[in-house]
Amino acid sequence: MNKPAIGIDLGTTNSCVSIVEDGVPKVIPNLWGDRIHASVVFFPGDDQVVVGNEAKRQVILNPDRTIWSIKRIIGRKSFASEVKKAQSMCAYRIVEGANYGVRIAIDEQMFSPEEISAFILREMKMLATEYLGVAIDEAVVTVPAYFNDNQRQATLDAGRIAGLKILRMINEPTAAALSYGYGRNLRQRVAVYDLGGGTFDLSILEIDGDIFEVLGTSGDSYLGGDDFDFRLLSHLADRFLEDFGVDIRSNKYSLQKLREACEEAKKLFSSHDEVLVSIPDIIEDDMGAMKLEYLVTREEFNGLVMDLVQRSFRVCDEALHAARCTVQDLDGVIMVGGPTRLPIVREAVGYYFGLEPDTSLNPDDVVALGAGIHAAGLKQTGFNTDATAPHQTVGAHLLDVTPLSLQIATVGGYTESIIERNTPIPIERSRIFTTVRDGQDRVHLRVYQGESNREEECTLLGEFIFSGFRVANRGDVNIEVVFAIDASGLVHVTARDLESGKQQQITLTMSSALTESEIQQMMLRGDGIVPVA
Ligand code: AMP
Repeated sequence: MNKPAIGIDLGTTNSCVSIVEDGVPKVIPNLWGDRIHASVVFFPGDDQVVVGNEAKRQVILNPDRTIWSIKRIIGRKSFASEVKKAQSMCAYRIVEGANYGVRIAIDEQMFSPEEISAFILREMKMLATEYLGVAIDEAVVTVPAYFNDNQRQATLDAGRIAGLKILRMINEPTAAALSYGYGRNLRQRVAVYDLGGGTFDLSILEIDGDIFEVLGTSGDSYLGGDDFDFRLLSHLADRFLEDFGVDIRSNKYSLQKLREACEEAKKLFSSHDEVLVSIPDIIEDDMGAMKLEYLVTREEFNGLVMDLVQRSFRVCDEALHAARCTVQDLDGVIMVGGPTRLPIVREAVGYYFGLEPDTSLNPDDVVALGAGIHAAGLKQTGFNTDATAPHQTVGAHLLDVTPLSLQIATVGGYTESIIERNTPIPIERSRIFTTVRDGQDRVHLRVYQGESNREEECTLLGEFIFSGFRVANRGDVNIEVVFAIDASGLVHVTARDLESGKQQQITLTMSSALTESEIQQMMLRGDGIVPVA
C-alpha cells in the first residue's frame, strides 16, 4: 500500500491534522487526546522549541519568546498594514528582513514566518507519524480562499522547511464542503460561511455527487474572531482607564493578559448570557497590583461586535454576485470556524440567508477532515468498497476558482487584468509582448494580484525580467508570456520567444519570498532545534 498522506488545517489560531483510515476520515489526536493544537511556537532557549497547546500557555509567561498568529503575516511584506498591526499587538519582536521580508527576532536568532509555520507543520507531521507508526511526509494543506500567491508560496515553502511535501493546497471552504458532502451523493448548492480567528471567507459551491465546484468566493482577510476579542479588549481597557486613570494598553504584558481574558470571555458568550472578566493582577501602579473585574452581558458584547458580523454580509453579497446566484438558490449553509458558535453569528447568518445554518459538523475540524479526504483521494488510498461507509475517499473532483485577479502593470501606475477573479483553476492565459526600443535586450513585467486598476492598491507578486532573446529593431521581437495559476492557486509565469520558440530566462525580483539557499538553511536549522515534549 502507498504510504498515506495527511490533511492539515494550518489555522491562524489552531491547527488540526487528519487521516483517512479504512475509508473513514479521522482527526488525529495528540497523546493527551487534544484534537486541535494552538498554532503557537515557544522558544525556551538552548535551541529548543515547544509547539501547540503547551506553547500557548507561555503567551503570558514568556510573551517575547512565544509566537502566535503567524498566519496573519506569512507571505506579507514588512510595510503591510497587517504586519504593522501585528507589531503593535504582539509582545514578540517583528523586524524587517531582506527585500521587505518579515523576521521574528528571538535573542540573536532571526526566524522567517515560513520557519515558524514549519514548526507547526512539523508538529502535525510528528503527531501523524506517531499515531500511524509510519513516517509521514506528504500532505494536503488548507489555506484561506483569499490567500494571494505570496501567501500560498510562503505556505508551500513552510512545508518544504518542515520536510513535508505539500501535494496540494486547497481552499478552506472547499475542504469544508468536501467533508460535508463527500460520499453522500448530494445535489446541492451551499454556502460555506467560514469565520476563523483572523480571516473570513464566504464561498458558494455546487455539490453534484463527487464533483465540488466553487461558483464564487469572496473574503476579508482582516475579519475574524481576533477582531471580536479586540473590541471587547478596547471596551474594557477604556472602562478601566475611565475608572482608574490607568491605561492597560501601555504595558505589553498587561495587554496580553487582557487579550487572553477577552478571548476566553468571547468563547463563553457562545453558551452564557453574561461573563465576569476578572484579572487579579492586571497592572501595577504606585500602590501595587491592580485588579480588573467587569461583568459583561451578552447583549453588551453583541453591541460591540454587531458591525463586524454585518461586515461579513458585504462579503456574502460579493460572493453571491460572483456566483451569479441569490440566497434563494441555496440549499444549505455550512458553518466553519470557532466564532460561528456565537449565537449572534448564527442568528444573523440564519436571517441573511433565510436558512437555518448547518451546525451538525464540528466547526473546528471540518476543514482538516476535508484536507484528509482530498489527500487520500490524491494518493488513491483509503478506498472503502463498503457503500455504507460514511465517506468514500476516491475520485472527488474539486473545481476551484482564483479569488483574486492576476494583473500586469501598464503605464502611469495602472494595471490591466490578465486572469479575472473567480476564474476556474487551473488556468493558463498568454499575451504577446514586443520590444518598444531598437536594441532592447530585456522586457520587464510587474505582476500583481488584486481588484483595483491602480498598482498601489494591488499586491505585487514580483517583477519579472525576460532576457536572452534576439536583439533587434523595436517591434521585431515577439515574446509570448504565459500566466498560469495551478490547482493550488500558485501563479507561474513563463516566457517564450515566438521566433525561436526558445524559453526565455526569467529573473524574479521584488519578491520577499525565501531563496532556495535560505530554505535549505532553514531545513537544516529546523532539524537541529529539538522539540520539548
Ligand atoms: P479557527 O481559526 O477556526 O481555529 O478559529 C479560531 C477562533 O475561534 C478564535 O478567535 C477563537 O477565539 C474562536 N473560538 C473558538 N471557540 C469559540 C467559541 N466557543 N465561541 C466563540 N469563538 C470561539
